[in-house]
Amino acid sequence: MSRIDYQGVLDEIIDEVQSEFGKGHVASYIPALKRVPPRKFGMAAVTVDGDVFSVGDAFEAFSIQSISKVFTLSMALNAKGVALWQRVGREPSGDPFNSLVQLEHERGVPRNPFINAGALVITDCLVASTVNARRQIIDFIRRRSGNAGLCYDVEVARSEKTHGHLNAAMAYFLKSHDNLNSDVEAVLDVYFHQCAIAMSCVDLARGFLYLANGGDCPLSGVSVHERSRAKRINALMMTCGLYDSVGSFAFRVGMPAKSGVGGGIVGVIPRVLSVAVWSPELDPSGNSHVGTKALELFTTKTGMSVF
Ligand code: GLN
Repeated sequence: MSRIDYQGVLDEIIDEVQSEFGKGHVASYIPALKRVPPRKFGMAAVTVDGDVFSVGDAFEAFSIQSISKVFTLSMALNAKGVALWQRVGREPSGDPFNSLVQLEHERGVPRNPFINAGALVITDCLVASTVNARRQIIDFIRRRSGNAGLCYDVEVARSEKTHGHLNAAMAYFLKSHDNLNSDVEAVLDVYFHQCAIAMSCVDLARGFLYLANGGDCPLSGVSVHERSRAKRINALMMTCGLYDSVGSFAFRVGMPAKSGVGGGIVGVIPRVLSVAVWSPELDPSGNSHVGTKALELFTTKTGMSVF
């Protein structure tokens, strides 16, 4: 197979997505996110051999939001093993990521670990199984991405906390169904902070390399997961990583990925690379509009997808 000119592909993509700006909306329900310039665009691809390709604002940090849920799921699976699946499901939600209705209908067992309710259960596992969950989470992500300087954006965390009534309602609802063991406010505090971690596209693409590489982190030399667990996390991203538009994302892009309302999306092509994109304008499901287009172009131009 001839070598792919990843840099050439990224250079083409940034030109071709220009006409897509202005069609989505920057998240406004978290006031601190509203301040981000809407036309930011960055993209980075990192191969499992460590080659880095980037374009645009790929080195600028932004709020990773729900992308953090992949890292916390990895940590919770390592802490709790398969017992975790008694508390959270593995099916796509087909509903918005912050839906309370579904949680009530299903008696406090969230559909999957990537909707907010599911992520709160995962965070509860970490709060219960570690002395300082906030520290453990940032350390895990620093090691995965090879960037010791990563930190929480405290202003975003505070903004989420002040406006996070729906998440608080969900957490108390989980508690009433005995599916949240720790103190509710402690879990919410960690959850709001994990969402408020600031990372660039390059950090994120590096950070997801262990999932592209069968569970082994090429940067730290650590085996994070056995191969079958990495496979399962990728499968969950494929089926649940883009909320209620996961089907059309699979149709258009064809790779396991996770989005966040900060406008980031990170995907992996197993055994080859991970790729991250950032563009803050969101579609109605809460996924980056331009970012989705950019990833669609990426898999089309490189001829690489999981299908
Ligand atoms: N912090 C956001 C929330 O709890 C995360 C949502 C997202 O990125 N989809 O609503």
